[in-house]
Amino acid sequence: MRNEKGQFIKGTNPSPKTQFKKGMTPYNKGKKGLIKHSEEWKRKTSERLKQQWATGERRVVENFKPLSKHSEETKRKISENSKGKHSGSLAWNWIEDRTIVLEKHRLRGTQEWKNWRMAVFERDKYTCQECNAMGVYLEPHHITPIRSDMSKLFDITNGITLCRPCHQKTVWKESDFVEKYSLLVAA
Ligand SMILES: [Zn+2]
Repeated sequence: MRNEKGQFIKGTNPSPKTQFKKGMTPYNKGKKGLIKHSEEWKRKTSERLKQQWATGERRVVENFKPLSKHSEETKRKISENSKGKHSGSLAWNWIEDRTIVLEKHRLRGTQEWKNWRMAVFERDKYTCQECNAMGVYLEPHHITPIRSDMSKLFDITNGITLCRPCHQKTVWKESDFVEKYSLLVAA
């Protein structure tokens, strides 16, 4: 609660959520006196501060800039360090994979995709070519993953009908199935 000058009015809380309500336990209950500094401590601290100000140990910093977590030097070292680790084929493959995955998502809704999928299903008589399941939810699988060869995206001989569980088993292990499925499709 603020007054007309925008100042907080004593005894009110700007946030009703954290506002102290009757019946609540005050945060300092039972702690009274714990944080009270001794006269001795106060005197010593006051003296220490006076001394620090006098010796220049403590001073008003002009143009104070908050320190960033890493200094420029540290930043340079980090970047040097990571160069060897993230460059090279692994990182690039990953980026390409991501791009193709996104492209695949985009193409999935197109008529061309639907036509390809339908042609694959028809050829395989709507049967999972792995477990021979019929009348279940089927998915077309790219025998050679399109992240390896984008040109085979709508190649019917690169597609095979799989049920969902069988399709899931091929994820990231496509190469293990290439030979088997290629033969099946060619048969
Ligand atoms: Zn199956």
